[in-house]
Amino acid sequence: HNEEAAAKAAASVADTGAPTIFDKIIAKEIPSDIVYEDEHVLAFRDINPQAPVHVLLIPKLRDGLTMLSKAEPKHVEVLGQLLLASKIVAEKEGILEGYRVVINNGAEACQSVYHLHLHVLGGRQMKWPPG
Ligand code: 5GP
Repeated sequence: HNEEAAAKAAASVADTGAPTIFDKIIAKEIPSDIVYEDEHVLAFRDINPQAPVHVLLIPKLRDGLTMLSKAEPKHVEVLGQLLLASKIVAEKEGILEGYRVVINNGAEACQSVYHLHLHVLGGRQMKWPPG
């Protein structure tokens, strides 16, 4: 089963603190479909969308935030900026009436890229609970 294989693959990825593909996206060394950008955050379309709207929102400076569980008081400002920017993304994408914001934290939650990111998902009826 494809979904299970993907989950298994993600579950095998660990937080090594190594640079990720998102550094290259921030540096624009590899192309991405950017939806929103400001001084602190970058939003771009997920390469493997799980909904009609599927945007990833990341801090431009990782600053140790490989995953949400590494959050410290010094990150409070950027964490707030990410949540605020998720609303701007939802607004731009025309899904303000209903959308989901997800953070996968760690292998058991299928985190596959260790640079904190919010998934902004919408454009269809979402189900609950998520898998
Ligand atoms: P995670 O599984 O860590 O919560 O989410 C990582 C997301 O990054 C996945 O949904 C995956 O499709 C997306 N992704 C991985 N590599 C790339 C890439 O090179 N470009 C874009 N746009 N998305 C990527």
